[in-house]
Amino acid sequence: MANPSVGTERVVTPPKARSLAEITVLTQAERFKGRPKLCSDCGICGGELRPLMAAACVFVQNRHEQIERKLHGRNRNDGDELLFGINRAIHITRLRQINYEAQWSGIVTRLGALLLEQGLVDGVIATKAAPGTLWAPLPFVARTPAEVLASAGNKPCLSPTLEVLAEVRASGLKRIAFIGMGCQVHALRAIEAELGLEKLYVIGLPCTDNTSYPDLLRFLNIVSKSPKTVVHHEFMQDFRVWLRHQDGHLEKMNYVDLDVSALGGERGIFPAACLSCFDYQNGLADLTIGYLGAPLPPEQRWQWMLVRTERGQEMFDLIKPLLELGERNEAGNRRVGVRAYVGMLRRPRKRPIAPIRKFVAWMQRNKGTKGFEFARAVIEMKLLRNLVFVRDQFPKHEARIVPHYVYRALAYTAEAYQAAFERSLAP
Ligand SMILES: Cc1cc2nc3c(=O)[nH]c(=O)nc-3n(C[C@H](O)[C@H](O)[C@H](O)COP(=O)(O)OP(=O)(O)OC[C@H]3O[C@@H](n4cnc5c(N)ncnc54)[C@H](O)[C@@H]3O)c2cc1C
Ligand code: SF4
Ligand code: SF4
Repeated sequence: MANPSVGTERVVTPPKARSLAEITVLTQAERFKGRPKLCSDCGICGGELRPLMAAACVFVQNRHEQIERKLHGRNRNDGDELLFGINRAIHITRLRQINYEAQWSGIVTRLGALLLEQGLVDGVIATKAAPGTLWAPLPFVARTPAEVLASAGNKPCLSPTLEVLAEVRASGLKRIAFIGMGCQVHALRAIEAELGLEKLYVIGLPCTDNTSYPDLLRFLNIVSKSPKTVVHHEFMQDFRVWLRHQDGHLEKMNYVDLDVSALGGERGIFPAACLSCFDYQNGLADLTIGYLGAPLPPEQRWQWMLVRTERGQEMFDLIKPLLELGERNEAGNRRVGVRAYVGMLRRPRKRPIAPIRKFVAWMQRNKGTKGFEFARAVIEMKLLRNLVFVRDQFPKHEARIVPHYVYRALAYTAEAYQAAFERSLAP
């Protein structure tokens, strides 16, 4: 047997690096071991890009507004841009031929496939399901349209997507498209110049309250009567979670009925990073494609698309012949409710009893905000909740990780904030 010692020094075999398929199913504790307290496992620190962490990480230094100036020559204007990010157009749209296997109508995967079909890129960084799972995200470089199309549907958990940039570099690909979340796009933009790419198309997904795969399974266990047969789910704009099962039947649960305390509260299920995130709408992408401001009913699969840059416009023009355009809508007034929410953040209430929950759910569905006003309300509440979280848990980080547009967007709640927290909303 070979002697493992050389002189007096023991040769230590480095621990075997975990594959992405192994990482993606880990618990938060396993995944964040040895990482800074704020980490969304965007993929930078798992491999050879780790030396770029300080320059890339949105939780080390939020460079959103600096990158905005580079992309657009300016920062956000007052009004909707403060919430939705800089954009040249917002379209309500869906694929004419809806892909019912996709999360919504399938625009994202169709666009990725088109970029490959037209020879505009040589690879698309997308996220499929890890083997043996339906929901654990496994990022990869798709080289054919069929591979992108097969990645349709959300794998709604933290994904170390940027780790596959190592594969891109190794294979010498120079023209790529990237599909991913805001924290990943921030890191990608921050190190874009170091990557030696000739062309980069960034397709952004909106994102909030992400979690690890085991925590997603815990969530499905409390929200569904049959968690193992759920094949699709979404937090809908009608204040309900919709879950579709293998046999096609739909299960719906009111937001107000969710027993978040069974999951250890929001802080028990969402990583600290996601509670310190201020980029729901993926403002640094070329194009953001989501559903938040789109009209209902969900069966019609309307989405909203925010065209941000010239490259975003190029992608919109490319896919336009395959799209049907719809009408934007909005109703209600979010401001009273958002101001009241500030007080609830200061003094969280217990889950109300069932008859009150039933009434609240009815009011939300029938009298609540709709369309763009619903989107504004949701984004503002996440900004407020996350600002309160950072001030409570990471006060020293505030100046580095909260971008200025947050205070501008929330300025109208300043009085309510002062009354509830006895301090100024402004930094
Ligand atoms: C974790 C998560 C949270 C989201 N939250 C919101 C939200 O709060 N509001 C909103 O408006 N929209 C949200 N979205 C986006 C929305 O649900 C749809 O993905 C989007 O509208 C595109 O739909 P589609 O039918 O065009 O996509 P599809 O054609 O079905 O393509 C989906 C694409 O998502 C990519 N993907 C899947 N899982 C991940 C992952 N974990 N990380 C990175 N990429 C992934 C795949 O590569 C695929 O290309 C979220 C998406 C994800 C993955
Ligand atoms: S979020 Fe990304 S860059 Fe920041 S610490 Fe985690 S893996 Fe590294
Ligand atoms: S909520 Fe923010 S930090 Fe968390 S995965 Fe989504 S974009 Fe990243």
